[in-house]
Amino acid sequence: MRITALRAYQVSCDMPEPLGNALQVLRRRSAVLVEVVTDQGVSGWGENASSPHAVGAYLRRVLAPLVLGQDPRATLPLHRAMLGTLNYDRRGVSMMAISALDMALWDARAKIEGVPLHALLGGAVRDRATAYVSGPFMRPGDDPYRQVPADAEAHRREGFRALKLRSGLSPRADAAIVSSLRRQLGEEVALMIDVNRGYTPRAALEAADRMRDVGLLWIEEPLAPDDLPGYRMLSGLMRTAIAGGEALAGLPAFRDALIERTFDILQPDLSVCGGFTSAMGVAALGEAFGIPIMAHVFGTVVNFHASLQLTAVLPSHRAGEPWNYPFFEYDRTPYALRRLRGDHPVAEDGTVAIPDAPGIGIDLRPAELEPWLAEHWEETL
Ligand SMILES: [Mg+2]
Repeated sequence: MRITALRAYQVSCDMPEPLGNALQVLRRRSAVLVEVVTDQGVSGWGENASSPHAVGAYLRRVLAPLVLGQDPRATLPLHRAMLGTLNYDRRGVSMMAISALDMALWDARAKIEGVPLHALLGGAVRDRATAYVSGPFMRPGDDPYRQVPADAEAHRREGFRALKLRSGLSPRADAAIVSSLRRQLGEEVALMIDVNRGYTPRAALEAADRMRDVGLLWIEEPLAPDDLPGYRMLSGLMRTAIAGGEALAGLPAFRDALIERTFDILQPDLSVCGGFTSAMGVAALGEAFGIPIMAHVFGTVVNFHASLQLTAVLPSHRAGEPWNYPFFEYDRTPYALRRLRGDHPVAEDGTVAIPDAPGIGIDLRPAELEPWLAEHWEETL
């Protein structure tokens, strides 16, 4: 059994409406999708959406020669071999390229064996998870929160019982919109905010004070992910849980965050942290430190479905009545590459099902990517 080709697809997609967070306005989203082709007539898929062009180059020049001809089921030896290529860049692009390829190898392996990927991770401990909306988002221009009430109402009608507002304008403005959301939605809806590195430590403390009565489940990435001294200060003083980890690549980065108690909730992204192999290591570290782990999910249909498989096996945590972690992050922005298989259904209780089809539960056809394809290459045996 051998890997016969590695293919990459650089895809890009304009957003129908610009959406903002504290860091940037999303007008166009891009990703590199990687396809591992095997001699079994089965392909596996992975992705990276953070640095797609640099990831593509590392995949082609460094990782493709390493995996071509190898047994696609050997996910652990191949992961170790890929880690062996790391040089000075140990927590960046190289790890993201390894992540994309590791995702694809696990998908291929599960499809070859005809089982859902979670079966290879030890078996599902749940068949549903509470989904939360990754949003509402800000809008460019005056009054960036103007669409938030209408967006929140639409999400509630879609079945969601948990929302994560993009915020970080100012502690005062953020507290005002979060309080009005609480009044609008009542106590039955879980609320979180994602600051996307928009605060200073003092602003984060002020915001948390102002929002104390709202009962947020967490405040996400108030500071830059590598601001360990800033997080050390916050974690001693803030009562609200701090979430983060989407930008961490490689187990040593998670080790540092856990030792420093940077985050109360860790959110590894499969396409950044090192793929499924590293994500299972992060889950084990989370168990050892008693920290809930849940996937960060903001990519194409591939990362979405891969993350459902990971969610099936993550440790359970009580999050305060009535919520149980892990939650599943659901990107509801009108992003065509996330919606290639339509919308994964949300039940009336706000949960989503974890698919049982082989691999990550979907099979992509390269032809489907053509409308968004900017560049494509293939390396063969
Ligand atoms: Mg985030």
